[in-house]
Amino acid sequence: MAFQPATIDPSNPLGPYIGAYIARSTAKNVKAGGGGAVTAILLYLLDKKKIDGVVAAKKTRGIKGEIVLAKTREEILMAAGNRWSIVPYTMRLKETLMSTDIRRVAFVGLPCQAQFLRQMKMFPLMEGDFADKIFVIISLFCMGTFAVESFTDYLARNYNVPLEEVENIDIEGDYLVIFYSGKKLRLPIESIIYHVQHGCILCPDYTGVFADISAGRASREGYTLILTRNRLADSIVNNAAYDGYLEISEATEEEIRYAREKALDKLNRSLKYIMRIL
Ligand code: SF4
Repeated sequence: MAFQPATIDPSNPLGPYIGAYIARSTAKNVKAGGGGAVTAILLYLLDKKKIDGVVAAKKTRGIKGEIVLAKTREEILMAAGNRWSIVPYTMRLKETLMSTDIRRVAFVGLPCQAQFLRQMKMFPLMEGDFADKIFVIISLFCMGTFAVESFTDYLARNYNVPLEEVENIDIEGDYLVIFYSGKKLRLPIESIIYHVQHGCILCPDYTGVFADISAGRASREGYTLILTRNRLADSIVNNAAYDGYLEISEATEEEIRYAREKALDKLNRSLKYIMRIL
């Protein structure tokens, strides 16, 4: 597939794309909203034997996670969910992809990981076989990940929330919502910005402009905005919908504007902190 390298232009902070859809899962045993649309696409790819597996992060304990290779529907369902810490993946990915029974995988990760993998595919050097096995790169929208020790220490000290009891974290407007032990803790995002990884403060990419497919929260509750950046990606999403895994409709201008504003916020944040360093 031909791929045009992308840069993040303030006039187009979502990067180049050919399709923009509002989607939710209609696949069996997959929740309709949240990350369900991405899980549905992965199940479609696996069921249709377009891939042998999915490389993704799986939650282990609290907000911690690890990279796994999911080769069955059940394993893909178990790996589904939000990720709030960045997990080391390069060595695990290479080991996984060099194993002989794997021909092609889908990779689901963050914009910085999508950029790394795109560079590996475009400039393979010694790692050609490894990158060639990545059939499609899916990036999840990302505003930043937490420095795990610092953030969990903050939660434990100030709110008495132990790491092992954190079940999920979500964003509601300007609040981060932490679900733990059947309870909900709402924190203003401003108040926890200091626990975001330093590198994330400088990162300009919200959607993953180097991915084939980018996906993240739509403004319409329970739906996912999906951007397809090339023809392969667009056919995957449309065929998954045609085969009953997804419900899709073209994203409205309002939906695009919502994502664009978030992408611009992140780009401006990075420029602000880069200027401080310089
Ligand atoms: S903010 Fe950027 S560097 Fe940080 S995890 Fe997200 S994509 Fe990666």
